[in-house]
Formats: sequence, C-alpha cells, structure tokens
Amino acid sequence: MHTLSTNAVFIKVASIIATLFNTSHIIVCMNAMPVIRLLKKEYSKTFFLSRDRHEGAFYVLISCVLSQRTKDEVTYPAAKRLFKIANNPKAMLKLPLKTIEKAIYPSGFYITKARRIKEVSKYLLENHNGKVPDNYGELLKIKGVGRKTAGIVLTHAFQIPALPIDTHCHRIANRIGWAKTRTPEETEIALTKIIPRRYWIELNELLVKHGQSVCKPVSPFCSKCAIADYCKRINVKQSR
Ligand code: SF4
Repeated sequence: MHTLSTNAVFIKVASIIATLFNTSHIIVCMNAMPVIRLLKKEYSKTFFLSRDRHEGAFYVLISCVLSQRTKDEVTYPAAKRLFKIANNPKAMLKLPLKTIEKAIYPSGFYITKARRIKEVSKYLLENHNGKVPDNYGELLKIKGVGRKTAGIVLTHAFQIPALPIDTHCHRIANRIGWAKTRTPEETEIALTKIIPRRYWIELNELLVKHGQSVCKPVSPFCSKCAIADYCKRINVKQSR
C-alpha cells in the first residue's frame, strides 16, 4: 500500500484547512517547494538546467527552435553541432541552408527549422544589431517566437524570472491542483500569482520533462510518479 510521507500528510491536512478558510494559494506555495525539489532530483540532467552557462542568449533562442517537437537527447547534440560551425547570427546567416540542415538532423522538421534559424538570424541582425532582446515585447516580434520561447529565453539567458507555460505545464498544474484553468495562458497568469518567483526559472523545464516521461496526457504513470504524494490527480480518469 502506498504510504504518504510526513510532509505530504502535513500538506494534505493543511490543504483541507486552507480550503475551509479559502487560503489555498498558501498551500500551493508550500506544495511547490517539495514538488520542485523532487522533480530536480528526478530530472537533474535537463537541457537548460544543465547547459553551459557561458552559452549566450542566441544559443538559448536557437535551442528553443530546435527543441520544438524534439527530445532533449536530440536537441542538445544538434545545438552543439550547429554552434560549433556558427555561434552568432552573422555567421549563421552565411551558412548554406543545407549545412544547417545537416548539422541539426535528426531534429524533427529539420528543413523548416533550418529556414527558421536563418530568418531569426537575419531579423536579429537587421533589428537588434545581432543581439537577442531581453524583454517579452521585442522577443514576441521575432517570427516563430511565442510566449513560451520568449519566457525560456528570459529565464535561461537573462535570468529574468518568467514563467513559460506550455501544454505539459498547463496539464500538470491542473492535475496537481495548482490551477483550475482552461488554457496555458490562463495557467501562466494563475501560477505567477501563487508560485514564488524564486521557482519560476526552473519550473517550466521540470514540468515539461515530467509531462514527457511520466505525467502523460492520456493515462499518466501515477504509480511511478515522484510527486504523487503532492498531486490531487484532478480529472485523471485512467492511470498506470
Ligand atoms: S500523480 Fe499522476 S497525475 Fe499527478 S503528477 Fe504524477 S503522474 Fe501526473
């Protein structure tokens, strides 16, 4: 039989009290700390958290492009290979498309991504003197950059706290009970109000990793979930 840790029991009792007194946001804050600690233990080798801090904002931005629909195990070597031959927008723009394609293969949609990498490089050169901007407004003007990528660039390249939320983060936050929202945008707003800022930088990547490997959209692996003690499993109808 599954036994709850002392901490988890405490959180559960506190959760009941918080619901009674309508102070559930306090519980989320208390709950977030052990959840993040456990996820960090579980996914210590995540891409951005373990990356070389000397790699700059351009590296983070291009890595985000490469990571779309592609696993970390493929993204990381692809980014390394590409940056070995060009590590700034000017050099990247000079590369023939075929060279970029070859460097980033087998990243998913590598032909489209190679084109996007050239477009991003050109845009940065023409509009920002080859530098990656450090604010949401300017980042969102770059073609193909949405709130999630912008948030990742801000957090991982500039250490500016942002909370990028994608479908994995949205799903897990709602299952755990941190949010009761319909879209990732609503979840972002809800979580920024209740998750302490000091956790924002790592939260996205940890939840994405957890969503990809354990908390799957259909039938999550609750039986082997490191944070099961802290999860309300809201709307989980079927699990393994
Ligand atoms: S217990 Fe299940 S639903 Fe909750 S986070 Fe873990 S895998 Fe997801």
